[in-house]
Amino acid sequence: LAMGSVSIPPPASLLRPLETPQRLLSGPGPSNVPPRVLAAAARQIIGHMHGEMLEIMDDIKKGIQYAFQTQNNMTLAMSGPGHVAMECAIFNTVESGESVLVAVNGIWGERAAEIAERIGARVNTIVKPPGGYFTKEEIEQALVEHKPVIFFLTHGESSSGVVHPLDGIGDLCHSHNCLFLLDAVASLGGSPILMDKQGIDILYTGSQKVLNSPPGTAPISFSDKKMFHRKTKPLSYFLDMGWLANYWGCDGKPTRTYHHTGPISGFFTLRESLAILAEMGLENSWNRHKEVAEHLHKGLESMGFKLFVQEKHVRLPTVTTITVPPGYDWREITVYAMKHHNVEISGGLGPSSGMVLRVGLMGYNSNKANADKVLEALREALKHCHKSKV
Ligand code: PMP
Repeated sequence: LAMGSVSIPPPASLLRPLETPQRLLSGPGPSNVPPRVLAAAARQIIGHMHGEMLEIMDDIKKGIQYAFQTQNNMTLAMSGPGHVAMECAIFNTVESGESVLVAVNGIWGERAAEIAERIGARVNTIVKPPGGYFTKEEIEQALVEHKPVIFFLTHGESSSGVVHPLDGIGDLCHSHNCLFLLDAVASLGGSPILMDKQGIDILYTGSQKVLNSPPGTAPISFSDKKMFHRKTKPLSYFLDMGWLANYWGCDGKPTRTYHHTGPISGFFTLRESLAILAEMGLENSWNRHKEVAEHLHKGLESMGFKLFVQEKHVRLPTVTTITVPPGYDWREITVYAMKHHNVEISGGLGPSSGMVLRVGLMGYNSNKANADKVLEALREALKHCHKSKV
């Protein structure tokens, strides 16, 4: 009896009802989830290998092919956040000892470099301070010098607010026998990307930004170039594209076998998010993000804020970075906006820490009324936040 009796009581906090606040998620992600997608999350689940589930996964695959503008057969959604797609992309295309080139102009390049280092790649970086981007000449010089098998670039650098120009980079990589890997977690659906036309070999995004699903699934696509002719197996069983391609029906085999139990509710929501994007049309989505960002930028400048990214054409429409106003403590501003307006504004991240405030308006959140709410919260924050002691 003594052995069988519990000595740890049920936690009191769990005996109270779940409570969550209503907020405008206008930071760099996640963004608010629209009612249609919330309703999908509330549906009873089905089995992960049931025929209806496999059909929903096929719908997701087609939705990703549309959103990415690709005909790649190797297109699916990872079970996990953006980081899982990041690791999947690198683990499947790079073997230990191979040369990798990473463009670092914010935190995402830093992380990609570390992921590649952990699997034993020879990692070389080209580096710009936050707010910067790379010319084709700079990229080509590094391709010639380091002869990488893969080049990593961040399309929407959510830590610095830069959208990287893409034209010509795919061709450049291919002329140097290198694959082009693009992180579009913060930009896909909000800023133009044409995977096939732009020669992008591996592309991934997350569910929780422009797509407005809850976090936890991550669309990814691979061109069928040399990445599947490896000498060694990928280090991760869970992230092995061989297995994942079969689970998603991308390998041409007649039967799909169990690899892992996918996040079924997450797939329901992702299907609905992709359906909403398909109904709206990519171009309309890109245009709306641009218009709303410009409206926000105009409002910020008229209040005396300085946009962190100087050159207009590389301002990321989904995530705006604002230079922390001189004499203010960025933390006080973000705390004020949250406490008094239920509006999320973030500070910087990684190399942009302490330098910027970040405002994200993505997908369902991308409209002028939300931009005005953010502007109002910032206007009040400026009035009420003490000039910092520094
Ligand atoms: N890349 C970029 C550009 C991002 O903005 C993020 C999320 N902030 C990630 C990767 C990682 O995504 P997750 O947090 O879903 O792992």
